[in-house]
Amino acid sequence: MNEVRTLILGTAGHVDHGKTTLVRALTGTDTDRLEEEHRRGISIELGFAHLDLRADLRLGVVDVPGHERFVRQMVAGAGGMDLAMLLVAADEGVMPQTREHFDVLRLLGVPAGLVVLTKIDLADPELVAVVEAEVAELVEGSFLQGAPVIGVSAQTGQGLDALRAALLEIADAQPRRSRGGDFRLPIDRVFVLEGTGVVVTGTAWSGSVRAGDSLRLLPQERELRVRDVQSHGRSVETAGAGERVALALHGIKKDEIERGDLLVGGSAWRTTHRLGVEVEAVSDPVLAARMRPRARVHVHLAAREALGRLDLLEGDGPMAPGERRLARLILETPLVARPGDRLVLRTWSPMWTAAGGRVLDPCLESGQRRALALDRLRRRRDTDVLEWAFEMPAEGEVETVIRARLSMLGLDPAEVDAEIDRRLREGGWLRVGDRLVATRGLDDLADRLLTRLREHQQKRPLTLGLPREELRQFAGFEGSSHAFARLLEALAARHPIFVRGDRVRADLAEPELDDAQRAALERMEERVRQAEPLFEATETDLRDPSLRLLVEGGRVVRLEGRLMAHRERLDALVARVGEHFAQAEVLDIADLKAITGASRKYVVPLLEWLDRTEVTRFGGGHRRRGPRCP
Ligand code: GDP
Ligand code: MG
Repeated sequence: MNEVRTLILGTAGHVDHGKTTLVRALTGTDTDRLEEEHRRGISIELGFAHLDLRADLRLGVVDVPGHERFVRQMVAGAGGMDLAMLLVAADEGVMPQTREHFDVLRLLGVPAGLVVLTKIDLADPELVAVVEAEVAELVEGSFLQGAPVIGVSAQTGQGLDALRAALLEIADAQPRRSRGGDFRLPIDRVFVLEGTGVVVTGTAWSGSVRAGDSLRLLPQERELRVRDVQSHGRSVETAGAGERVALALHGIKKDEIERGDLLVGGSAWRTTHRLGVEVEAVSDPVLAARMRPRARVHVHLAAREALGRLDLLEGDGPMAPGERRLARLILETPLVARPGDRLVLRTWSPMWTAAGGRVLDPCLESGQRRALALDRLRRRRDTDVLEWAFEMPAEGEVETVIRARLSMLGLDPAEVDAEIDRRLREGGWLRVGDRLVATRGLDDLADRLLTRLREHQQKRPLTLGLPREELRQFAGFEGSSHAFARLLEALAARHPIFVRGDRVRADLAEPELDDAQRAALERMEERVRQAEPLFEATETDLRDPSLRLLVEGGRVVRLEGRLMAHRERLDALVARVGEHFAQAEVLDIADLKAITGASRKYVVPLLEWLDRTEVTRFGGGHRRRGPRCP
């Protein structure tokens, strides 16, 4: 069976220009469902129908209301459109909402479409020519420039076949939408179905969904389970990007969810009160000028409207027609966005579409300095949208966050791997142990570590270096100590950081000892070496820099409390333990007493040291040969 491809076709145009009538003529569905819509004879809510253009091609049709009071619904519907029909009544021509809807389509980045001249039965050819010229002027330089202009009459049926043919051609020319990445459904309707429960509908913006999936409802931050997936009135196994979708949901009541809420898969989605955007003013100079610093605006993103303030970061004074500037949107109600999303800005009152916006940063920090914010947004504007995923995440494990963000941006798992591999190859990132580390962050880290190491060496001139573990804690590194060792290796390749054993120094120089210090060191080492069976340090010994230096350098090993042993004696012990295991399975206290000639008081700390260093391994009441036993 051929897979049926679906695209979303939307209407646009002034009230009474014949949008709903045309959708009915094409699909047989009356999209004015509400009693009020019939009584008043106008569309209020979004209407939905479907049009099977060919056995393998289905258009989900979204009919928008044309009245100026319902532009909010129109914007919500336009967000998911693959194709748009801009309808203009041949007997009336371009009207205010023709322009406004056209602006919305353009600003939201609807990729393709055509123009339909409706009520062609009511206009004589001269008038049609005038309207055609008006339309051509309107769409000049836009995605509709050069698109088909088709005259139709829902009354006589004239032009409907030509319209279907043109739609087919345009639909076939559209690239297939990816279904990779996180599922995302802006909710445009919520209702209760007898026997089914709460159902939400919307146009899926990305990813796919199947029954049983767990989704997150935002901004409520609730986990919900999908009971059933429907598309165009039938239960389906899976539905996704570019389709009208209805989901029956578990675990929520109708009044806990509303139009404009969002259902998502994946973990990178955040609600925010601050969006970083590039704003583009409309071509009307009066409206463009309403977009000035600190202007109050209505922000429309997907099916949600939020109130906010426009914080223009570039330029002075009001915006010029068609001008673009970087800005922050400070929102009174939270929104959820991903980089690359388009939104519409409408003036405060009266409401009119005055600008569009492209989301560059979906979640700006609050209280960030303007210059810094501008800097970041400039970088975002000039780089690929995927780069956002690799911005140093503020929270969480780096690689997990990066993967979640790439998935949010629409990449499937193989594409996520490829993006990460590419950066590892190109050198922007390193794999350190099991962690992903940005090389640009490494230089800052190296500076911090070097400062700490130098400080330590200054305070304790005889030290061999700072213990690696202490440095790991100072760095706030949360990975394993093995991973930290790999990180230090990476740092050492570019910075004067030196690792010896478990000590780290900021330079290669050995601590400098004068003759007296050297003699004291040798005396101390000899005392430890000669001590029988182990060296037991006094209070004075413990404060002696010579002993500390011997311990740091690994010549002397601290077993437990004051008990210490010279490295050479322990090496000898390990060799004898190895010989022991050549003949025996297990090593117990009595065996070690025999080997060392020492009493229990000394033998127990030695056994524990053997366990710690994995010369032996204790388990099931017995001590056996460990991985590091010779
Ligand atoms: P909408 O507000 O754009 O959805 O417009 P409607 O579809 O509700 O149509 C408004 C009015 O125009 C209705 O009374 C329709 O019957 C009428 N109409 C729509 N299309 C045609 C057409 O092609 N020819 C004629 N004569 N009337 C039409
Ligand atoms: Mg209508």
